Amino acid sequence: MSRLDEFATRCIRGGNPADPQYGAVLPPIYQTTTFRHAAVGQEQEYSYSRVDNPTVRALEDRLGQLEAAEPALCFATGMAATVTLCLAVLKTGDRVVCSDVVYGGTFRLLREVLDQYDVQSVFVDTADPQALSAALQEPTRLVILESPANPTLKLTDIGACARLARQHGALVVVDNTFLTPVLQRPLDLGADVTLYSTTKYIDGHNATVGGALCTRDPELRERLRYLRTALGTIQTPHNAWLTLQGLKTLSLRLATHGANALLLAQALARNPQVLRVHYPGLDSFAQRDLARRQQLNGGGIVSLVVAGGLQQAAAVLRHLRLITPAENLGAIESLATHPATMTHKCVPEAVRKQLGVVDGLIRISVGLESPDEIVADLEQALLVAAREVHHV
Ligand SMILES: *Cc1c(COP(=O)(O)O)cnc(C)c1O
Repeated sequence: MSRLDEFATRCIRGGNPADPQYGAVLPPIYQTTTFRHAAVGQEQEYSYSRVDNPTVRALEDRLGQLEAAEPALCFATGMAATVTLCLAVLKTGDRVVCSDVVYGGTFRLLREVLDQYDVQSVFVDTADPQALSAALQEPTRLVILESPANPTLKLTDIGACARLARQHGALVVVDNTFLTPVLQRPLDLGADVTLYSTTKYIDGHNATVGGALCTRDPELRERLRYLRTALGTIQTPHNAWLTLQGLKTLSLRLATHGANALLLAQALARNPQVLRVHYPGLDSFAQRDLARRQQLNGGGIVSLVVAGGLQQAAAVLRHLRLITPAENLGAIESLATHPATMTHKCVPEAVRKQLGVVDGLIRISVGLESPDEIVADLEQALLVAAREVHHV
């Protein structure tokens, strides 16, 4: 885990502005809509909190330092970051190529919303660079990659795909929500932009919803900031302050999330009630070599498939005692999600099944409780659920 330690100082102190007035160790929350103008026509650093805010900027500086990039831009939610990015770089008639397994909200935005503005999106298996290469034969403005993908954890070779996209003049964004810059550095691998739902690991405490975009291109950052002002998608100062506190323990948390997730995945791989386990840290994972090369550990998310479909998956969630059945991930509390009826219900059933988001799939966000208790809880729920389903 020593490489994770490299990030500890930046997670705690990166961009942390000294409080000039009282020397407070934590930055103040600038809970204000507006800032006094020194004189008419004289530009100040801050004018109005829809445009910029010092507390939000403190979070942006720290995230930017973690990525060795320009200061990040923070948004009200992850989806606010995604829509701001899309409206900043796309226009009517443009084409988007997106990983086929993605967060359901990204699929919905492209397929059901941007479609109406004549932005065409195609979804391809970016785990296969040949498939991406074929999709890029038609002019493409934006490539959206998600690795590991939500919820099957399929990986995309970010470096290979970024090179291909670049040859075709497309901009590459990587949704790095599952790993954060601590475990995976898409900008080093050639991506133009990284996208985060800070709601997940970056806050890490189930306290806020938020989003962020990071880039090393100052002109692109300015364009994104302009759109954020136009759309009004900025994060609130209070959420930015809470996220700054959560972020301090990011590298510590991700080390333990990864260790606990590996223990759970190993236990599930031995469990007779489990048909399949998806976890990039398992030796049996199909893309294990790519996982080793591209990310520092397997991450904190484990997906499993039970044979009895919706009925059995629902029974597992119902019988959990410690793990909470809920729709988030990346926080210190372990959560269990049923993607087919929750996060991915907006994806048509036929498409879902083809991508492996089957009715028996359960996604576990492995928290920081005692790993023995997490494993024991899921094992007892799997056993009770199996008995229940087989007796009906
Ligand atoms: C949750 C999530 C999002 C959307 O973020 P919100 O903060 O819920 O708007 C985007 N991408 C991934 C991978 C996510 O898990």
